[in-house]
Amino acid sequence: MKFVSTRNSDVKVTASKAILSGISSDGGLFVPESFPELSTDDISNLSKMSYKEKADFIIGKYFTDFSEQEIKECTEAAYGDNFENGDPAPLVKLGDLGYVLELWHGPTSAFKDVALQILPHFIVKSSKKCKNNEVTLILTATSGDTGKAALEGFKNVKGTEIVVFYPYNGVSKIQKLQMETQEGDNLAVCGVNGNFDDTQTCVKKIFTDKNINQKVKVFGRKFSSANSINLGRLVPQIVYYVSAYTSMLAEGEIEPSEKINFVVPTGNFGNILAAYYARKMGIPVNRLICGSNSNNILYDFIKTGKYDTDREFHLTDSPSMDILVSSNLERLLYDLSGKDSVLVSSLMNDLFTKGKYKVSDEMRSVINSIFDAQWCSDAEGGKEIKKLFDEYSYLCDTHTAVAVGAYDKYRAETGDDTKTVIVSTASPFKFPKAVYRAITGETVDDDFDAATKLSDISGRKMPMQLAELCNKKVGFDSFVETDEMPDYVVSFAGGEE
Ligand SMILES: *Cc1c(COP(=O)(O)O)cnc(C)c1O
Repeated sequence: MKFVSTRNSDVKVTASKAILSGISSDGGLFVPESFPELSTDDISNLSKMSYKEKADFIIGKYFTDFSEQEIKECTEAAYGDNFENGDPAPLVKLGDLGYVLELWHGPTSAFKDVALQILPHFIVKSSKKCKNNEVTLILTATSGDTGKAALEGFKNVKGTEIVVFYPYNGVSKIQKLQMETQEGDNLAVCGVNGNFDDTQTCVKKIFTDKNINQKVKVFGRKFSSANSINLGRLVPQIVYYVSAYTSMLAEGEIEPSEKINFVVPTGNFGNILAAYYARKMGIPVNRLICGSNSNNILYDFIKTGKYDTDREFHLTDSPSMDILVSSNLERLLYDLSGKDSVLVSSLMNDLFTKGKYKVSDEMRSVINSIFDAQWCSDAEGGKEIKKLFDEYSYLCDTHTAVAVGAYDKYRAETGDDTKTVIVSTASPFKFPKAVYRAITGETVDDDFDAATKLSDISGRKMPMQLAELCNKKVGFDSFVETDEMPDYVVSFAGGEE
């Protein structure tokens, strides 16, 4: 299997090359040239497998330049013992509401771990395959969760280094502390005076800037990305959609071939795109429901076909979704346009030069046949947190709450009673102030006080890796303007950080 650039279908590379490059040199994203299909037998066999075995099977279908053994080594290293109870994707049934797919039982308590625990192993192996002698320098822009998950994934991995940039005033206190206290000898973390989009745009520019690439090459470094634009993150995310479906099948919750819905709290469109890819592979999916917070640009796009970044940027209770430029949408456009890389290039050029683009009515109607979109304010999300706690004694975080709210609105609008999986992307203890306030109406100033109170009322414990943050030493407190980011990277590559 080869991977092509969304902006030039003539660019065809192996999985290892795509993983190492992160992004194509034409600015496009790598996508599979075709989708491996799962037969009914495959789906039935998958329903008897462990998560790790499912991962071996699905990833093996895409990364055909990796041997079976190599993929097994990667899945073992990532999923062997880094997730609570050995299960990266447990499914919890909540009465008549549906099923919650809890993806946050990994080392940093957000769903990003599922992909970022495995990506470093793909990178190290890809580097060997491509006979690459340079150190892979990972550059990452984060809206809060990717950064920490990437740092944990890459820390002390030989042959790799990582620099994480985050919007200094755009992440929660716990998210910030998680990054500032990061340990490891091959990494750096830096705050940026700007929002996530500014940060991500600048990181993307650094990747494709020949001059900066040359400068770090002198130091024996070569860039790659841990953001969801990297193919090595996308493919492991397909696995948990396949896993959710086949687990429901195994437990008799659905009949063979029965369709289900997924509701996904969305930011950069990476998570929900993986659901779309699972559907392309043959997982029976009725609708994919895209949940947004008040940065509801994807809602507007899915409803109108117009993507327009000319709008106010809101800081919300679900900061990991405070995004206006959803990079992975490009991959969907490529697929839905019948792999028209000329069209995708022109839309992305409109986005870059005018801050907006519009797709044809035809394309919009295809999008609407698969996707629905809904959005929730912080207040609406808060009501969902309280409702889940009161009705099911279930604690959910602020991002998951957006998905629950989106599902409520979807059901009210459509009356669709298809069985539905709500994708839960973070531990409630990662955003304890907002969760506690939603349930009790009481505002607590400190995250750790809020977490303690949340434990008291719910009987749930704060994950240890979050609880111990308040005793850790802050090692990184740098802060730069966006135009200083290139220099920061070059001096890190030169060993000055
Ligand atoms: C990253 C993140 C999201 C958004 O996922 P995308 O793949 O960017 O759409 C949602 N919730 C949480 C908790 C996240 O960390």
